[in-house]
Amino acid sequence: MQARCFQLKTVLIISLALFFSDKLDAQDQVITAKTSYQDLTKQIVNTALHEGKAYEMLVDLTKLGPRLSGSPQAAAAVELTRQMMEQLGFDNVRLQPIMVPHWVRGPIEEAAVINSPTMGTMPLTVCALGGSIATPEMGVVGEVIEVKSFEELRSLGKKAEGKIVFFNRPVDSTKMNTFEAYGGAVNQRGNGAIEAAKVGGIAALVRSMTTRLDDVPHTGGMGYEDGAPKIPAAAISTLDAEMLTRLIVQNKKVVVRMKLTCQTLPDAPSANVMGEITGSEKPDEIIVVSGHLDSWDKGTGAHDDGAGCMQAIEAVRLLKACGLKPKRTIRAVMFMNEENGLRGGEEYAREAAEKKIKHTAAMESDRGGFAPRGFTVQADSMIVSRISKWAHLLAPTGVEYIKSGGGGADIWPLSRQGVPAIGLVPESHRYFDYHHSDNDTIDKVNERELELGAAAMAIMAYLISEEF
Ligand SMILES: [Zn+2]
Repeated sequence: MQARCFQLKTVLIISLALFFSDKLDAQDQVITAKTSYQDLTKQIVNTALHEGKAYEMLVDLTKLGPRLSGSPQAAAAVELTRQMMEQLGFDNVRLQPIMVPHWVRGPIEEAAVINSPTMGTMPLTVCALGGSIATPEMGVVGEVIEVKSFEELRSLGKKAEGKIVFFNRPVDSTKMNTFEAYGGAVNQRGNGAIEAAKVGGIAALVRSMTTRLDDVPHTGGMGYEDGAPKIPAAAISTLDAEMLTRLIVQNKKVVVRMKLTCQTLPDAPSANVMGEITGSEKPDEIIVVSGHLDSWDKGTGAHDDGAGCMQAIEAVRLLKACGLKPKRTIRAVMFMNEENGLRGGEEYAREAAEKKIKHTAAMESDRGGFAPRGFTVQADSMIVSRISKWAHLLAPTGVEYIKSGGGGADIWPLSRQGVPAIGLVPESHRYFDYHHSDNDTIDKVNERELELGAAAMAIMAYLISEEF
C-alpha cells in the first residue's frame, strides 16, 4: 500500500505541476489533467480491490443485527460507525442528535386461512408492515376480498365492508428497471391500509414487494391518514399470495384470521453520524457521501443500507489511503431513519440551511451493494451534462453511464435547497429479492462488487472536489 500511494502521489504532483505550468497551452493542460485523473482512478480501484475495507466493516455492522430506528441495535450502530471513523483518522467525527419514530414489531404476527373447503385451516407467512397498529387481542377474522388497484377497490362499493382487503398487484417483472417496477406496485403497501379503511375494510394484506416467488414476507413503511380510521396491515409472502388468489378462485369465499402485536412507542433519541477529510483549499465547501444507518427489523439490513454506509466510509478512507488531499471537504454521513421518517436527512438539511453551510454536492448509495453500473444526478441540466462527461474516468469501476435521475431519499432535503444530488446505481436485478426481508443478510453481499461501488463513490467525490 505504501509503495502504491507513494507512486500515486508522485504522479499527481508531477501532473499537477505540469497542469499549472504556464508554458503549456490550454489543450496540453486538458490532456495532462485527463491523464492524471485516469491514473488516479485506476489507483483508487486497485486500492479498493486489494485492500478494501467496506466488506469487513459491513460484517461488523451486520453482526449488530437489524437497526430499526429507536432500537438498541440502531443505537449500537451509531456508536460503532462513530468508532470506525475515529479509528480511521477521519476529521471532525461527530453525532448530530435527532428524535426518531419508534415502532416495534411485537412477538406475535400470524395469519391463517380458516376452514377452507379444499385446504382446511392453513397458516400464511405474513409480517406486520412498519407503522401498523396491532390487531385486537383476539385478532381480526374476515372474508378476504382481492383487488389489484385502488380504482378496483373503490369500484366495489359496499362489497369491501367488514372484509380483509388483499392487495395483490405483483411487482412487474417485465420491466428491466426493477426500481421502476417496485415504484409501480409500492403504493399498495404505503397507502393500502388508508384506502381499505375508507371502504370499510377491517385489515389490509399486501403482496410482498418482490418479483421473486418465495416464502419470505417483505416489510416496509406504510401510513395512515389523520382523522381517518386505522386498520392493521401486513405483508404476505409472494408464494402465499399466489396460493390465496387460487383459493379465492376455487372456493369463492375465503376467510382469514390475522393477529399482530406491533405498536408505536414514543419517539426515541438517536443521531446521524459523520466524519470527514478536511478540504485543503476550500474546507468550508462540503461534498457529502452517504448511506442510511437504520434498516428494517428483518434480516440485518446488509444491502439496505449497511452497504451504502460502509461504502461512504470506505470512499473517504480510500482517498486518505491514497494520500489524496481534496480541495473541498468530503464528508461521510450515516443518516438515521430513512426507512420510517427521514428525520436524519431532514435535520441534516435544516442545520445546513440554518448555519449557511455550503454543500457543493451530496451523494448517496442506497440501492444495494451490487456491482456499480452508473450514477444518476439530480441537478440542472448544465451540471448533469458536466458530470456525465466523467463517465470514462469511472469506467474502471464498471460504471457505464452518468445521467439525469434521483439522488437518494436522505439527500432529497438537501437537493430541495438546490444542492446537486447524486445516486450510485448498482446492478438492480437481485435487490428486491432481499429488500426489507429476512433475506437481507451479509451472505447476499459480494465483497468485490461492494468495494467497486465504494471506489466509484470515492472517484466521483474527488472529481467534484477538484473540478467544481
Ligand atoms: Zn434504503
